[in-house]
Amino acid sequence: FRFCSSNGSDEEERTLGIIKPDGISGNYTERIKQVILESGFEISKEMVIQLDEENAANFYAEHSSKSFFTNLIRYMTSGPVLVMVLEKEDAVARWRDLIGPTDAGKAKITHPHSIRAMCGVDLEKNCVHGSDSHQSAEREIAFFFKEAPSEDAVGKHDEL
Ligand code: GDP
Ligand code: MG
Repeated sequence: FRFCSSNGSDEEERTLGIIKPDGISGNYTERIKQVILESGFEISKEMVIQLDEENAANFYAEHSSKSFFTNLIRYMTSGPVLVMVLEKEDAVARWRDLIGPTDAGKAKITHPHSIRAMCGVDLEKNCVHGSDSHQSAEREIAFFFKEAPSEDAVGKHDEL
């Protein structure tokens, strides 16, 4: 007996995607969702949330010692975000491919079809987030959707 997810595939992986405040305020939400669905992801959960400074700092704790941290927290709390659980085979890597490199300015040149090229501006305002590993994905999904963290994410879970 093997567990099968709702679409019958047992190859599914999930990742966390966020449309950041600039993506929402720039009215890119529907276009981004269209790209997500056309690329074969299922959006299995979604939620609009206004992060406060503590939420954002916890979510980005790995960057707390970086010079850009204060700006990053200000950016991520500047308006509501749309948080999504995205499901597909190899979802973590495929979603990172689809969003493109961190620097949206460079993405416009090197990855013109990426989401960050489409709606991002620069190294900070890059309109979307994507988990960087399977373990990060499980921790980040649990962070927003309050599930019991999976075995490999235990100890790395930040409460909202
Ligand atoms: P990501 O995984 O591609 O989102 O990039 P990182 O995990 O390295 O950084 C997290 C987020 O911080 C990025 O998506 C940007 O919004 C922001 N960021 C990263 N590097 C810089 C930087 O050098 N300067 C500024 N201002 N923001 C940055
Ligand atoms: Mg990252």
